[in-house]
Amino acid sequence: MKIALCVKQVPDTSDIKWTENNTMQREGVESIINPYDVYAVEQALKLKKECNAEITVFTMGPLQASDMLREIIALGVDNGVLITDRKFAGADTYATGKTISQAIKKILPDFDLILCGQFAIDGDTAQTGPCIASLLDIPQITYVKEITECKNNTITATRVLEDGIEIVKTNLPALICVLKSEFEPSRALINGIIKAQDTEIRTVTLDDLELAPEDAGIKGSPTYVSKAFRPEVKHNGEKNNCLENGRGAEILLDKMKEIGVLHE
Ligand code: FAD
Repeated sequence: MKIALCVKQVPDTSDIKWTENNTMQREGVESIINPYDVYAVEQALKLKKECNAEITVFTMGPLQASDMLREIIALGVDNGVLITDRKFAGADTYATGKTISQAIKKILPDFDLILCGQFAIDGDTAQTGPCIASLLDIPQITYVKEITECKNNTITATRVLEDGIEIVKTNLPALICVLKSEFEPSRALINGIIKAQDTEIRTVTLDDLELAPEDAGIKGSPTYVSKAFRPEVKHNGEKNNCLENGRGAEILLDKMKEIGVLHE
């Protein structure tokens, strides 16, 4: 079984910097593995054990994202692909989905399953996974809490929705977007870290993917972020350390009477 794992590196700080195109500054910014993608890695590792799967992790991002790929390979993922080119910068989810689907088509054409996180915590659109599935014309299961069975070329997963739980089964190849799950993320062991250092990360550019400049990056994005700003934080609350003077309830009651939400 061959799994393509899509993992995004996201800024680790709330101190987000924007470029002049209102896209997020990614290079040189402290970054982490997108938290939802950590669970996509875990689901892949579980399938590796159960179905002897071979896992290739893909990320589209700046050169620094190769460190993140090595971290993931150290956990037991087999191969890493860095999709990187200045021309990919500023991509919206359509251009991102197009680039990643092209990379999977070119590098792992006989994939059985694509695993994504449900959301990236920076852009937070949850559109990239479904976009990849529709461009590759494969079924998709989103909001997946757990993959419960994978056999005879089908996969069964538990979906968690606002109003209930769904058990969904589909034929492979398919794409699954995962939510955070209960299990603890794996930790890299020393032999995994050594293997990761020795594993060659494959780097692919726009030309390698035979994409035209107008297919990718800001040029290939039908949408753009027109304005990005940090909302002004208004502190019109009043802090009162009720624990100290032990009069918390009394102060609260007085305040509620004062503002008229409590009548005598
Ligand atoms: P999501 O679609 O939320 O990601 C879902 C999953 O897709 C991830 O968990 C991961 O598994 C996979 N994935 C996503 N990006 C990558 C990647 N680069 N490499 C590997 N796997 C990946 N674009 C729009 O089209 N519309 C918008 O409204 C929009 N708003 C944005 C707002 C902000 C604040 C920012 C920073 C960006 C926004 N973008 C938007 C651009 C968008 O972030 C990028 O296109 C991004 O690469 C994919 O979208 P996302 O971050 O929402 O990821």
